[in-house]
Amino acid sequence: MKRPKLQLYGKILIGLALGVIFGLLANRLGCSGFVLDYIKPLGSAFIRLISMVVVPLVFASLLVGTAGLNDVRKLGRIGAKTLAYYLCTTAIAVTLGLLLANIVKPGAGLSGEARRALVESRSEQADAQIARAREKPAITDVLLNIIPANPIQAFVEGNMLQVIFIALFAGICLTMIPGGRCQPVIGFFEGVNDVVIQMVRIIMRLAPYGVFALVAAVVADFGASILLALVKYSVVVIAGLVLHAAIVYPSAIRIFSRQKIGAFFRGIRPAQLIAFGSASSSAALPVTMECTERNLGVSRKICSFALPLGATLNMDGTALYQGVSTVFIAQVYDLGLTAAQQLTIVLTATLASVGTAGAPAAGIVTLAIVLKSVGVPLEGIAIIWGVERILDMCRSVVNVTGDASCAVVVAASEKDL
Ligand code: ASP
Repeated sequence: MKRPKLQLYGKILIGLALGVIFGLLANRLGCSGFVLDYIKPLGSAFIRLISMVVVPLVFASLLVGTAGLNDVRKLGRIGAKTLAYYLCTTAIAVTLGLLLANIVKPGAGLSGEARRALVESRSEQADAQIARAREKPAITDVLLNIIPANPIQAFVEGNMLQVIFIALFAGICLTMIPGGRCQPVIGFFEGVNDVVIQMVRIIMRLAPYGVFALVAAVVADFGASILLALVKYSVVVIAGLVLHAAIVYPSAIRIFSRQKIGAFFRGIRPAQLIAFGSASSSAALPVTMECTERNLGVSRKICSFALPLGATLNMDGTALYQGVSTVFIAQVYDLGLTAAQQLTIVLTATLASVGTAGAPAAGIVTLAIVLKSVGVPLEGIAIIWGVERILDMCRSVVNVTGDASCAVVVAASEKDL
């Protein structure tokens, strides 16, 4: 069972490496236009295929997963464990990010001129993002928005939090109806779930080509500058992500389960690569589910429950990134942050990451919530825009790793591994 997955992993890795080389060459030779016009669409096709299955997959698997847990007590217990794990690891991630940013001080001591150059180098995209961020509703509206006024609209717009709300609500109600009267409904959605998973398996064969095209396009577009600019800040974010993934998840897995750490990371790699290539945990979700069930041995019931929730709610990488970014921007603008303000960052970044969609660049928009909460200028978003894409790719990897580690821990605690 395991071999084909590992072979696929090798192929995706080759696709990734070739994408970087191809993109760099295209950038050097001045033909990034060609890559963007003709190669990028291949990557976009892959993303569209995988996005196509996300809403039905989340809905069907969460509904079946919730209904399959049978009694509301068990559901409540697993739900509570899952949410507790997600919130705790996210809060740890922000705290780690804050610690690193405060120790390394990546934004301190920048001359006024350097700061001006950074802000001026911002692109129109960054301006558009700042405008969007300014419109970002208050946290109460974000929470209220979880309840869909119109369920059909939630599906059409692919509003994941709302889709999750409907699936959980319907799944819980299904467990309350006695006498197997709803078995046909559950059977139908089980069928939908199986079809979607089969579609994912077929789409995954295209993953190496998709990842190649996506990575080639990013590198051709930005060139090596994306890797060199804002080095210190990027290094702090990436170091934080690596530390979080290397310390927090292995510790949790070691404490709560018997899973081998090496096997965990090997098993989840294909999902990490898709998350890296697509910068989206939602796009990676089908693969995360497949890897967690097949390679890590987590039961379908727990996967169906914990992973769709995690892909939307649990964003440790994003929260860590938001913590570092807020401190970095405050340092660039020479604003000191008090201990109380840093605590506010922990709280708001944890909540903001819950409200972040598992989509590319979603985290930089909700970063506005965190910046606003401590009075750091939103214009700071422009400063970090240049390295946004690469950091987005990296934090998405941590986001999906966190989801999978939660599934392992919860499954182990339920003796379902
Ligand atoms: N791209 C991230 C994800 O999908 C979210 C973010 O922008 O931080 O996991």
